[in-house]
Amino acid sequence: MFEKILIANRGEIALRIQRACREMGIKTVVVHSEADRDAKYVRLADESVCIGPPASRDSYLNMPAIIAAAEVTDAEAIHPGYGFLSENADFADRVEKSGFVFIGPRPESIRLMGDKVSAKNAMIEAGVPVVPGSAGALPDDEQEVLRIAREVGYPVIIKAAGGGGGRGMRVVHTEAALLSSVVMTKSEAGAAFNNPEVYLEKFLQNPRHIEIQVLADGGRSAVWLGERDCSMQRRHQKVIEEAPATGVDRKLIERIGERCAEACRKIEYRGAGTFEFLYENGEFYFIEMNTRIQVEHPVTELITGIDLVQQQIRVAAGEKFSLRQKDIVFKGHAIECRINAEDPFTFMPSPGRITNWHTPGGPGVRIDSHAFNGYFVPPNYDSMIAKVITYGDTREQAVARMSIALSEMVVEGIKTNIPLHRELMVDSRFVEGGTSIHYLEHKLAERA
Ligand code: ADP
Repeated sequence: MFEKILIANRGEIALRIQRACREMGIKTVVVHSEADRDAKYVRLADESVCIGPPASRDSYLNMPAIIAAAEVTDAEAIHPGYGFLSENADFADRVEKSGFVFIGPRPESIRLMGDKVSAKNAMIEAGVPVVPGSAGALPDDEQEVLRIAREVGYPVIIKAAGGGGGRGMRVVHTEAALLSSVVMTKSEAGAAFNNPEVYLEKFLQNPRHIEIQVLADGGRSAVWLGERDCSMQRRHQKVIEEAPATGVDRKLIERIGERCAEACRKIEYRGAGTFEFLYENGEFYFIEMNTRIQVEHPVTELITGIDLVQQQIRVAAGEKFSLRQKDIVFKGHAIECRINAEDPFTFMPSPGRITNWHTPGGPGVRIDSHAFNGYFVPPNYDSMIAKVITYGDTREQAVARMSIALSEMVVEGIKTNIPLHRELMVDSRFVEGGTSIHYLEHKLAERA
């Protein structure tokens, strides 16, 4: 096992990785920007290194500074967390070429899955169902593009091959709007992702977002750890996640889960990963794979009892893979609310000093947060400051515990989206379960 790991991230996930390391008796090196000097995990680290000014591109995205920090502290491995450099194949490459272990998949797997066109093709080959659409990137020939869209049937969605974070997508309802939308999405994709390639798929009208968690050893062993329903979204960004997904046939999920595990074996995938699907009318359609730990991983941990971050570290260290599919048992129900420093209804970011901070507790309540009383939320990064996760024997109990937890939670000095979460926990459609990816935006539109 490693003696020392460098954590190349910030916020709640830096603390989460640090907790896993400490439990395993591994020393931690934390790298941080000038804005995160006073962070809790910096104080709790065995060593810390300031890698630059607040702007991400000068600190958390600064590859040479991070690798130099690993060199001067003699860390053996680097955990990239999520976001930042976690899905950057060049970073994984540089980490390994500098003699450190990258806690994640091999660079080739990141590259394969980072390009959504090649990812979709790999999934088709592995027998995973995908959203119907163009076979690969759209060609330059306009007549051919019109023909493909007609064949797929409107509405269609144009997506950037290199897109991510809910960006680089455009829905097209009529043939008249198709070609100009393709041109616009191409030029945006070229500017934002350095890759102008776009592809086309059927725009599903009322799907749910359901994803499968996998863990694999980089060889022929892979397991799937159930699903998560992440349909409560705003602007393609997840707001609430839960496991398991209500009202989906277990046999179907098992079939899809097994296909995902098989796809991992086929590409000799290493570490944790997530296959994202849209689910509509009883069918699953693959949209993309994330080759990292995800924000919503705790709901899976609560229903399986498996620590995903520790598993990532064990696989990276080359320990013998001990998980067997038959030993993975799903029990109970878990829900996660992402607590953001923002206005609950206008969604304007609300950074600043937290003057009063009180977190809930009690049976089945888990809080993953780097915030504390007097903590200053920097304006430079993602606005998520905490995850409140509850567990219950049933969904009903998990929802009730979440409602109670949110009623206990106090955050003063900045605005948060806690009031929105409180409303959602008593929303009759949410309580019923199984809402589509459009539900939250429709609800917010009605409110306005
Ligand atoms: P990103 O990598 O930017 O997160 P995804 O491909 O995962 O992009 O899509 C993000 C979200 O966009 C999905 O969760 C869903 O809400 C919506 N979306 C993507 N593809 C489709 C589609 N074919 N039909 C309907 N909605 C889609």
